[in-house]
Amino acid sequence: MNKDFVNHLAWTSDHPLGLEIASAEGPFLYLKNGDTLIDFISGIAVSSIGHRHPSVLHAVRSQLDAHLHVMVYGEFIQLPQVEYARNLTGILPPSLDCVYFTMSGTEANEGALKLAKKYTGRTRMIAFEHSYHGDTHGSLSVTGREVYQKPFRPLLSDVFFLPYGDFDALSLIDQQVACVIAEPIQGEGGMRVPPQKWFATLRARCSDAGALLILDEIQTGFGRTGHNFAFEYEEIVPDILTLAKAMGGGMPLGAFVSSKEIMQTFRRDPPLSHVTTFGGHPVSCAAANATLDVLINEQLSDRASVLEDHIRLKLKHPLICDLRGRGAMIGLELPSPDIAQKVVQSCLEHGVLLGWTLHSGTVIRIAPPLNISLEVLSVALEIILTALQKVEDSNHCI
Ligand code: PMP
Repeated sequence: MNKDFVNHLAWTSDHPLGLEIASAEGPFLYLKNGDTLIDFISGIAVSSIGHRHPSVLHAVRSQLDAHLHVMVYGEFIQLPQVEYARNLTGILPPSLDCVYFTMSGTEANEGALKLAKKYTGRTRMIAFEHSYHGDTHGSLSVTGREVYQKPFRPLLSDVFFLPYGDFDALSLIDQQVACVIAEPIQGEGGMRVPPQKWFATLRARCSDAGALLILDEIQTGFGRTGHNFAFEYEEIVPDILTLAKAMGGGMPLGAFVSSKEIMQTFRRDPPLSHVTTFGGHPVSCAAANATLDVLINEQLSDRASVLEDHIRLKLKHPLICDLRGRGAMIGLELPSPDIAQKVVQSCLEHGVLLGWTLHSGTVIRIAPPLNISLEVLSVALEIILTALQKVEDSNHCI
């Protein structure tokens, strides 16, 4: 492994993949050792329009010629920010008409939680078991997995976790609650899809209690689940929508989006209630604007449903206990973490990059770029099927 990677980079596990990237293009990762991988996780749902999409490269190059960072967020009028905010809100419901840009997903959730507290004057937050909302202190406080929270206590107090998808538990949302934060599909929780009408019930309960509903679409957003945003499928509108990942087409960008009425809470008492230096970086916003054009013009949300149909049709094997998710956000549940790990490893050796989910060791993540060709998709699915068979055969031998 690269010596400087070993000596000078902070590792987040004892066993990083350590693949040395030479370049990336479309659905492919090219490694320094000459190998090619089909990227079946898109940098964890980031490269939804593929790596180095020509429209994004063009937008980035044009913005490089104009300006880079010029001022902390919100003071100057920067064309890439205002144009993108207009275009993004143009595909959202009318009540989501005001954008606060951030640099990342966790920062978007931090802003959303603060906004809900300040707007409602309440402190209580409700989140869900097996959720993932990011790793800064606020987002971690609403991330529903004890093993990740424990080393960092004390976190935010007055946070309660309810079972995801449980109708009865929603009765605990009362007038003390500032906000409820939820993912439309729990990505790190193992691609868990809630029962039908659960989100509609949650929405109604929040409205009755005067609690704001924050939908974290950091992973589900921008076409991934077969709709531009997953809340469209649920036929609800959140009070605050948080976004990141695929937003910037490979550049770092996040946002929380709400109504002007709610968002103006940050203007006073005190002014500058929430500030970021790099949020809405002009190069990232230019890239995001191009990404949004690609998403719409190439009808990539429809494409996600086409990919789902192919995956569901072809990926049939006795080791698959469950295949769940929506669009091109699919989880394969296998009998054990050991089997899941062997399948991922075998796929990697044969040219397909898959991933795990943070909270569910038995679930393999499938999240290819939405514009992957059906030919490349089929090649990858064949490699996965071969890996499943190989692991099944080796298990029988033991
Ligand atoms: N929310 C969800 C649903 C996510 O999947 C992630 C990232 N995996 C985050 C928040 C945090 O985003 P970031 O890593 O950009 O801070």
